[in-house]
Amino acid sequence: MVLDRPGTPLREAAREVPFPGPGQLLLRVLACGVCRTDLHVVDGELPDLGRPVVPGHQIVGIVESGGAGSDRPPVGQRVGVPWLGWTCGACRFCLSGRENLCGEARFTGYHLDGGFAEYALADERYCFPIPAGYSDLQAAPLLCAGLIGYRSLVMAGDAPRLGLYGFGAAAHIVVQLAVHQGRRVFAFTRPGDKGAQAFARSLGAEWAGASGDAPPEPLDAAILFAPAGELVPVALRAVERGGTVVCAGIHMSDIPAFPYSLLWQERVVRSVANLTRRDGEEFLALAPRARLRTEVESFPLSAANKALARLRDGRVHGAAVLAVG
Ligand SMILES: [Zn+2]
Ligand SMILES: [Zn+2]
Repeated sequence: MVLDRPGTPLREAAREVPFPGPGQLLLRVLACGVCRTDLHVVDGELPDLGRPVVPGHQIVGIVESGGAGSDRPPVGQRVGVPWLGWTCGACRFCLSGRENLCGEARFTGYHLDGGFAEYALADERYCFPIPAGYSDLQAAPLLCAGLIGYRSLVMAGDAPRLGLYGFGAAAHIVVQLAVHQGRRVFAFTRPGDKGAQAFARSLGAEWAGASGDAPPEPLDAAILFAPAGELVPVALRAVERGGTVVCAGIHMSDIPAFPYSLLWQERVVRSVANLTRRDGEEFLALAPRARLRTEVESFPLSAANKALARLRDGRVHGAAVLAVG
Protein backbone atom coordinates (compact mmCIF):
# COMPACT_ATOMS: atom_id res chain seq x y z
CA MET A 1 0.00 0.00 0.00
CA VAL A 2 1.80 3.06 -1.32
CA LEU A 3 1.44 6.72 -0.39
CA ASP A 4 2.09 8.60 -3.63
CA ARG A 5 1.88 11.98 -1.96
CA PRO A 6 0.47 13.31 1.32
CA GLY A 7 -3.23 14.00 1.38
CA THR A 8 -4.12 11.14 -0.97
CA PRO A 9 -5.33 7.64 -0.06
CA LEU A 10 -2.86 4.79 -0.08
CA ARG A 11 -2.83 2.92 -3.37
CA GLU A 12 -2.60 -0.82 -3.76
CA ALA A 13 0.43 -1.55 -5.93
CA ALA A 14 2.24 -4.66 -7.14
CA ARG A 15 6.02 -4.61 -6.91
CA GLU A 16 8.83 -7.11 -7.27
CA VAL A 17 9.97 -8.66 -4.00
CA PRO A 18 12.90 -6.41 -3.01
CA PHE A 19 16.46 -7.72 -2.86
CA PRO A 20 18.36 -7.11 0.39
CA GLY A 21 21.42 -4.91 0.03
CA PRO A 22 24.54 -5.10 2.22
CA GLY A 23 23.58 -5.39 5.89
CA GLN A 24 19.89 -5.68 5.11
CA LEU A 25 17.38 -8.40 5.83
CA LEU A 26 14.46 -9.32 3.63
CA LEU A 27 11.38 -9.84 5.78
CA ARG A 28 8.13 -11.52 4.92
CA VAL A 29 5.70 -9.28 6.77
CA LEU A 30 3.29 -10.99 9.16
CA ALA A 31 1.70 -7.93 10.73
CA CYS A 32 2.23 -4.19 10.87
CA GLY A 33 0.84 -1.81 13.44
CA VAL A 34 -0.87 1.42 12.41
CA CYS A 35 0.39 4.41 14.37
CA ARG A 36 -0.65 8.02 14.66
CA THR A 37 2.68 8.90 13.05
CA ASP A 38 1.56 7.00 9.93
CA LEU A 39 -1.44 9.28 9.94
CA HIS A 40 0.79 12.35 10.23
CA VAL A 41 2.79 11.10 7.21
CA VAL A 42 -0.35 10.39 5.17
CA ASP A 43 -2.01 13.66 6.15
CA GLY A 44 1.09 15.71 5.26
CA GLU A 45 1.77 16.89 8.81
CA LEU A 46 5.44 15.91 8.51
CA PRO A 47 7.70 17.47 5.85
CA ASP A 48 6.85 16.01 2.42
CA LEU A 49 9.75 13.97 1.10
CA GLY A 50 8.56 14.40 -2.47
CA ARG A 51 8.45 10.73 -3.38
CA PRO A 52 6.18 7.73 -2.82
CA VAL A 53 6.61 5.64 0.33
CA VAL A 54 5.16 2.50 1.86
CA PRO A 55 4.10 3.54 5.41
CA GLY A 56 4.22 1.38 8.51
CA HIS A 57 6.87 1.22 11.23
CA GLN A 58 5.68 -1.49 13.60
CA ILE A 59 6.66 -4.45 11.44
CA VAL A 60 6.58 -8.03 12.63
CA GLY A 61 8.15 -10.29 10.02
CA ILE A 62 10.03 -13.50 9.36
CA VAL A 63 13.58 -13.20 8.07
CA GLU A 64 13.72 -14.70 4.58
CA SER A 65 17.29 -13.83 3.61
CA GLY A 66 20.17 -11.47 4.20
CA GLY A 67 22.20 -9.30 1.86
CA ALA A 68 25.94 -9.22 1.28
CA GLY A 69 27.92 -8.62 4.46
CA SER A 70 25.37 -10.46 6.55
CA ASP A 71 27.36 -13.61 7.33
CA ARG A 72 24.69 -15.35 9.38
CA PRO A 73 21.28 -13.80 8.72
CA PRO A 74 18.78 -15.16 11.25
CA VAL A 75 16.68 -16.87 8.57
CA GLY A 76 13.35 -18.05 9.94
CA GLN A 77 13.53 -15.83 13.02
CA ARG A 78 10.62 -13.54 13.88
CA VAL A 79 11.82 -9.96 14.24
CA GLY A 80 10.35 -6.51 14.75
CA VAL A 81 11.25 -3.33 12.92
CA PRO A 82 10.65 0.01 14.65
CA TRP A 83 10.48 3.64 13.50
CA LEU A 84 14.25 4.16 13.85
CA GLY A 85 15.56 2.50 10.70
CA TRP A 86 19.10 3.83 10.37
CA THR A 87 21.47 6.29 12.05
CA CYS A 88 24.91 7.59 11.06
CA GLY A 89 26.73 6.10 14.05
CA ALA A 90 29.31 8.88 13.93
CA CYS A 91 27.73 12.16 15.05
CA ARG A 92 27.91 13.44 18.62
CA PHE A 93 24.35 12.31 19.26
CA CYS A 94 24.99 8.78 18.01
CA LEU A 95 28.20 8.64 20.03
CA SER A 96 26.54 9.73 23.27
CA GLY A 97 23.64 7.29 23.48
CA ARG A 98 21.24 9.67 21.76
CA GLU A 99 20.91 8.12 18.32
CA ASN A 100 17.22 9.07 18.48
CA LEU A 101 18.42 12.65 17.81
CA CYS A 102 20.79 11.79 14.93
CA GLY A 103 20.38 14.43 12.23
CA GLU A 104 20.92 11.84 9.51
CA ALA A 105 18.48 9.30 10.98
CA ARG A 106 16.17 7.54 8.56
CA PHE A 107 12.80 6.39 9.71
CA THR A 108 10.83 3.33 8.67
CA GLY A 109 7.68 4.02 6.70
CA TYR A 110 8.82 7.60 6.06
CA HIS A 111 12.34 7.76 4.60
CA LEU A 112 12.43 3.98 4.16
CA ASP A 113 9.65 1.81 2.80
CA GLY A 114 7.77 0.26 5.70
CA GLY A 115 5.50 -2.61 6.55
CA PHE A 116 2.20 -1.90 4.81
CA ALA A 117 3.39 -4.54 2.35
CA GLU A 118 3.94 -8.27 2.02
CA TYR A 119 7.72 -7.87 2.04
CA ALA A 120 10.03 -5.28 3.56
CA LEU A 121 13.75 -4.61 3.83
CA ALA A 122 15.34 -3.62 7.11
CA ASP A 123 18.85 -2.87 8.33
CA GLU A 124 19.68 -5.91 10.45
CA ARG A 125 21.21 -3.69 13.17
CA TYR A 126 17.81 -2.08 13.78
CA CYS A 127 15.71 -5.24 14.10
CA PHE A 128 14.67 -6.70 17.43
CA PRO A 129 13.81 -10.31 18.25
CA ILE A 130 10.13 -10.50 19.24
CA PRO A 131 9.48 -12.04 22.67
CA ALA A 132 7.76 -15.43 22.53
CA GLY A 133 4.29 -15.40 23.99
CA TYR A 134 3.06 -12.56 21.79
CA SER A 135 1.14 -13.34 18.64
CA ASP A 136 2.16 -11.45 15.51
CA LEU A 137 -0.81 -9.12 15.85
CA GLN A 138 -0.27 -8.52 19.55
CA ALA A 139 3.46 -7.92 19.13
CA ALA A 140 3.12 -5.21 16.47
CA PRO A 141 1.94 -2.38 18.78
CA LEU A 142 4.86 -3.01 21.12
CA LEU A 143 7.19 -1.69 18.41
CA CYS A 144 6.06 1.94 18.54
CA ALA A 145 3.09 2.46 20.82
CA GLY A 146 4.88 0.41 23.47
CA LEU A 147 8.37 1.66 22.77
CA ILE A 148 7.60 5.36 22.58
CA GLY A 149 5.30 4.91 25.54
CA TYR A 150 8.18 3.33 27.46
CA ARG A 151 10.58 6.14 26.59
CA SER A 152 7.94 8.70 27.59
CA LEU A 153 7.39 6.95 30.90
CA VAL A 154 11.13 7.02 31.61
CA MET A 155 11.16 10.76 30.80
CA ALA A 156 8.31 11.26 33.27
CA GLY A 157 10.74 10.26 36.05
CA ASP A 158 9.61 8.31 39.07
CA ALA A 159 6.31 10.22 39.31
CA PRO A 160 4.00 8.17 41.54
CA ARG A 161 0.84 9.89 40.24
CA LEU A 162 0.81 9.80 36.44
CA GLY A 163 -1.67 11.37 34.04
CA LEU A 164 -2.13 10.00 30.51
CA TYR A 165 -3.79 12.35 28.01
CA GLY A 166 -5.20 10.52 24.99
CA PHE A 167 -6.05 6.90 25.63
CA GLY A 168 -5.06 5.11 22.43
CA ALA A 169 -2.51 2.50 21.47
CA ALA A 170 0.39 3.91 23.51
CA ALA A 171 -1.55 4.74 26.67
CA HIS A 172 -3.21 1.33 26.82
CA ILE A 173 0.28 -0.22 27.11
CA VAL A 174 1.82 2.47 29.34
CA VAL A 175 -0.99 2.24 31.90
CA GLN A 176 -0.18 -1.44 32.43
CA LEU A 177 3.54 -0.79 32.77
CA ALA A 178 3.01 2.15 35.15
CA VAL A 179 0.68 0.11 37.36
CA HIS A 180 3.19 -2.75 37.30
CA GLN A 181 5.77 -0.26 38.62
CA GLY A 182 3.44 0.68 41.46
CA ARG A 183 2.31 4.04 40.10
CA ARG A 184 -1.21 5.44 40.26
CA VAL A 185 -2.62 6.32 36.83
CA PHE A 186 -5.19 8.92 35.86
CA ALA A 187 -6.49 8.67 32.28
CA PHE A 188 -7.87 11.56 30.23
CA THR A 189 -9.87 10.88 27.08
CA ARG A 190 -11.90 12.85 24.58
CA PRO A 191 -14.90 14.34 26.41
CA GLY A 192 -17.76 11.85 26.46
CA ASP A 193 -15.66 8.86 25.40
CA LYS A 194 -17.06 6.58 28.09
CA GLY A 195 -15.77 3.51 26.23
CA ALA A 196 -12.15 4.66 26.40
CA GLN A 197 -12.60 5.67 30.05
CA ALA A 198 -13.95 2.23 30.95
CA PHE A 199 -11.12 0.65 28.95
CA ALA A 200 -8.55 2.70 30.92
CA ARG A 201 -10.08 1.63 34.25
CA SER A 202 -10.11 -2.01 33.13
CA LEU A 203 -6.35 -1.79 32.54
CA GLY A 204 -5.60 -0.37 35.96
CA ALA A 205 -6.22 3.39 35.84
CA GLU A 206 -7.74 4.41 39.17
CA TRP A 207 -9.54 7.38 37.64
CA ALA A 208 -10.64 8.25 34.11
CA GLY A 209 -12.27 11.42 32.86
CA ALA A 210 -12.40 13.99 30.08
CA SER A 211 -9.26 15.84 28.97
CA GLY A 212 -10.58 19.13 30.34
CA ASP A 213 -11.42 17.70 33.77
CA ALA A 214 -9.24 18.37 36.79
CA PRO A 215 -7.92 15.13 38.29
CA PRO A 216 -9.12 14.36 41.84
CA GLU A 217 -5.67 15.21 43.16
CA PRO A 218 -2.53 16.83 41.68
CA LEU A 219 -0.33 14.72 39.41
CA ASP A 220 3.45 14.33 39.55
CA ALA A 221 3.76 13.93 35.79
CA ALA A 222 1.62 13.77 32.70
CA ILE A 223 2.26 12.25 29.28
CA LEU A 224 0.46 13.75 26.28
CA PHE A 225 -0.22 11.19 23.57
CA ALA A 226 -2.99 13.27 21.99
CA PRO A 227 -1.51 15.61 19.33
CA ALA A 228 -3.43 18.58 20.74
CA GLY A 229 -1.32 21.57 21.82
CA GLU A 230 -4.16 23.01 23.90
CA LEU A 231 -3.62 20.13 26.32
CA VAL A 232 -0.15 21.40 27.32
CA PRO A 233 -1.45 24.19 29.60
CA VAL A 234 -4.26 21.89 30.75
CA ALA A 235 -1.72 19.27 31.83
CA LEU A 236 0.55 21.89 33.42
CA ARG A 237 -2.41 22.99 35.51
CA ALA A 238 -2.92 19.37 36.61
CA VAL A 239 0.68 18.70 37.74
CA GLU A 240 2.10 19.46 41.16
CA ARG A 241 5.11 21.74 41.82
CA GLY A 242 8.18 20.19 40.17
CA GLY A 243 5.99 18.11 37.87
CA THR A 244 6.82 17.15 34.30
CA VAL A 245 4.65 17.24 31.19
CA VAL A 246 5.97 14.94 28.47
CA CYS A 247 4.79 15.49 24.88
CA ALA A 248 5.13 12.10 23.23
CA GLY A 249 4.02 12.76 19.66
CA ILE A 250 6.03 13.69 16.59
CA HIS A 251 3.49 16.34 15.66
CA MET A 252 1.23 18.55 17.74
CA SER A 253 -1.06 21.45 16.97
CA ASP A 254 0.20 24.83 18.21
CA ILE A 255 0.43 25.31 21.94
CA PRO A 256 -1.63 28.33 23.02
CA ALA A 257 -0.05 31.08 25.13
CA PHE A 258 -0.37 30.48 28.84
CA PRO A 259 0.59 32.37 32.01
CA TYR A 260 4.08 31.78 33.36
CA SER A 261 2.55 30.80 36.69
CA LEU A 262 1.64 27.44 35.13
CA LEU A 263 5.32 26.72 34.49
CA TRP A 264 6.69 28.37 37.63
CA GLN A 265 7.78 26.17 40.58
CA GLU A 266 10.07 24.09 38.41
CA ARG A 267 7.44 22.47 36.29
CA VAL A 268 8.95 21.06 33.09
CA VAL A 269 7.56 20.66 29.59
CA ARG A 270 9.54 18.37 27.32
CA SER A 271 9.15 16.32 24.16
CA VAL A 272 10.20 12.77 23.44
CA ALA A 273 11.63 12.08 20.01
CA ASN A 274 11.89 8.68 18.35
CA LEU A 275 13.70 5.87 20.15
CA THR A 276 17.10 4.35 20.60
CA ARG A 277 17.90 0.69 20.07
CA ARG A 278 18.59 0.50 23.78
CA ASP A 279 14.98 1.56 24.46
CA GLY A 280 13.88 -1.32 22.25
CA GLU A 281 16.05 -3.89 24.01
CA GLU A 282 14.95 -2.71 27.44
CA PHE A 283 11.27 -2.49 26.64
CA LEU A 284 10.98 -5.80 24.80
CA ALA A 285 12.68 -7.51 27.76
CA LEU A 286 10.33 -5.77 30.17
CA ALA A 287 7.06 -6.41 28.29
CA PRO A 288 6.76 -10.14 29.10
CA ARG A 289 8.03 -9.65 32.66
CA ALA A 290 5.37 -7.00 33.30
CA ARG A 291 2.83 -9.22 31.51
CA LEU A 292 1.85 -6.39 29.16
CA ARG A 293 -1.02 -7.35 26.89
CA THR A 294 -2.07 -5.46 23.82
CA GLU A 295 -5.60 -5.15 22.61
CA VAL A 296 -5.70 -4.98 18.83
CA GLU A 297 -8.24 -4.31 16.15
CA SER A 298 -7.02 -6.01 12.99
CA PHE A 299 -7.57 -5.13 9.35
CA PRO A 300 -6.44 -6.84 6.17
CA LEU A 301 -3.55 -5.12 4.37
CA SER A 302 -5.89 -3.96 1.60
CA ALA A 303 -7.99 -2.11 4.23
CA ALA A 304 -5.08 0.11 5.34
CA ASN A 305 -7.01 3.25 4.36
CA LYS A 306 -9.95 2.14 6.50
CA ALA A 307 -7.64 1.50 9.47
CA LEU A 308 -6.14 4.99 9.07
CA ALA A 309 -9.60 6.56 8.83
CA ARG A 310 -10.74 4.84 12.01
CA LEU A 311 -7.61 6.01 13.81
CA ARG A 312 -8.15 9.57 12.56
CA ASP A 313 -11.71 9.46 13.95
CA GLY A 314 -10.54 8.10 17.31
CA ARG A 315 -12.59 4.95 16.85
CA VAL A 316 -9.88 2.30 17.34
CA HIS A 317 -10.12 0.26 20.53
CA GLY A 318 -6.52 -0.32 21.64
CA ALA A 319 -4.20 -0.52 18.64
CA ALA A 320 -4.93 -0.93 14.94
CA VAL A 321 -2.86 -3.61 13.22
CA LEU A 322 -2.72 -4.82 9.64
CA ALA A 323 -2.75 -8.60 9.42
CA VAL A 324 -0.53 -9.39 6.45
CA GLY A 325 0.95 -12.88 6.46
ZN1 LIG B 1 24.21 10.23 14.00
ZN1 LIG C 1 4.67 5.13 15.68
